[in-house]
Amino acid sequence: MIIRTEAELINFGREIGQNLHVPTVIELIGDVGAGKTTFTKGLAEGLGIKDPITSPSFTISKSYAFEKTEAQPSSRGYKLGTGFLNHYDFYRLPDPGLMQEDLSESINDENTVTVVEWAESVKDILPENHRIFNITLNEDGSRTIEELK
Ligand code: ADP
Ligand code: MG
Repeated sequence: MIIRTEAELINFGREIGQNLHVPTVIELIGDVGAGKTTFTKGLAEGLGIKDPITSPSFTISKSYAFEKTEAQPSSRGYKLGTGFLNHYDFYRLPDPGLMQEDLSESINDENTVTVVEWAESVKDILPENHRIFNITLNEDGSRTIEELK
């Protein structure tokens, strides 16, 4: 899908967030500035998160709470209650060390949506069935976003 504006990318993320299963693990692939964090902003809005989403590059991870709705069923048995979006960015961390345990906990938490940018160094930890979106910055400034799996 071709995305022409930042707002369009946020809308795309929002629609995915509105119907997302909890838990879910999403890997985002794309160059610096492609729009991975922008997509996550939309996803967070769709989940019902009101806090501003900022890039976790300096802190490696950021966590946001939301109230689960009926549109966000749990694949491990449907429950309302508090959900979390944990947003990771391993760009500055080629050796994830202890953050791997943090990420594993996030992935195994039944109330958590885990989003990972620059997942190369933690590939082994991601579940086999995680979702992958690829964002490409085109020469004309548009973005191509596709779900790889
Ligand atoms: P990443 O997390 O992939 O490094 P960001 O989402 O942080 O990328 O940054 C994308 C940048 O590109 C933002 O500054 C955003 O304003 C800008 N931008 C311009 N056009 C678009 C578009 N169509 N989609 C997404 N971002 C866009
Ligand atoms: Mg980013």
